[in-house]
Amino acid sequence: MKHLRVLATGGTIAGSGAGGAGRAYAPGRIGIAEMAAEVRALGLPATLEAADIAAIGSQDIGWAEWSLLHQEIAAAQNDGGIDGTIITHGTDSAEETALLLDLTRPAGKPVVIVGAMRPADAVGSDGMRNFANSVRVASDSQASGRGVMVVMGDQIFAAVDVRKARTSSVDAFRGFPRGPIAAVTPSSLDWFGPPARVGEGARLPWPEALPQVDILYAYAGMAPCTVEALLGCGARGLVLAGMGQGNAPARVLDALADAVRGGIPVVRASRVDQGTVDRNLEVDDDARGFVAARAFGPAKARILLQLLIASGIREAREMQAQFDRR
Ligand code: GLU
Repeated sequence: MKHLRVLATGGTIAGSGAGGAGRAYAPGRIGIAEMAAEVRALGLPATLEAADIAAIGSQDIGWAEWSLLHQEIAAAQNDGGIDGTIITHGTDSAEETALLLDLTRPAGKPVVIVGAMRPADAVGSDGMRNFANSVRVASDSQASGRGVMVVMGDQIFAAVDVRKARTSSVDAFRGFPRGPIAAVTPSSLDWFGPPARVGEGARLPWPEALPQVDILYAYAGMAPCTVEALLGCGARGLVLAGMGQGNAPARVLDALADAVRGGIPVVRASRVDQGTVDRNLEVDDDARGFVAARAFGPAKARILLQLLIASGIREAREMQAQFDRR
């Protein structure tokens, strides 16, 4: 029998009010004690201790909740009586929380983030199944040494790969460049490979604060004053959600290169759903001092850039090495 700590933050998995066939609902309504009691009754090979950290939609998550989660995971990882941690979470920003914790915690005991696309009282709700799956994953003997994982739709994704790719439907999550790392149901678990990060320490330190980094969405006809607007707003780093291979109109790229000269790091990511953004293809990153986001989408590139700035890493070459790393 494994012993797991469950940290609840809210989201649709704890949502209610859809009224069976209805659509409108409020996230974060159901306490974790109620959900844990329901999962306990399924007879999975784990005991659960649960705590409510927050009861919010994950679009509102930020430094306060992230700090608390980081602290709680550290405590659980150092507690000989706890075998793994499950975080119940809204799906909107699950990829951001997953990457932040993945980069700042050792890849030791399992940490699993789980959500739902349908509230608990909706027809065909996926919450309890996803939660039961997460218990199976976190209590599995081969779950350690894989970093933070996201369990959704009977699949397991690594934090570095995962993203929400659909606004609705229970298979809303995808992995890129790697697809799911395992298939899971409440009664089965098939890993597609061995744990690759056994014994790996934290990749980056937990920061004292997260600096303001903003995302600039590129489009045809975009004007360079959008760059100035964000800098005027206090941005200490910028991520371009560029067209195609991280492109933007020439005048916008010029404004971004000016920002780099002024000490603001700029990472080029893509607004396109899949594919890497590589260095020096259409855009001369060497000449302009940009960093290519590679496989990270804009939201995740932002998290990594925040951590790099907070760690005092300022040089484009050093930043690039972190974005190249898988
Ligand atoms: N927007 C809410 C959130 O991300 C509800 C959506 C969901 O959990 O799927 O928490």
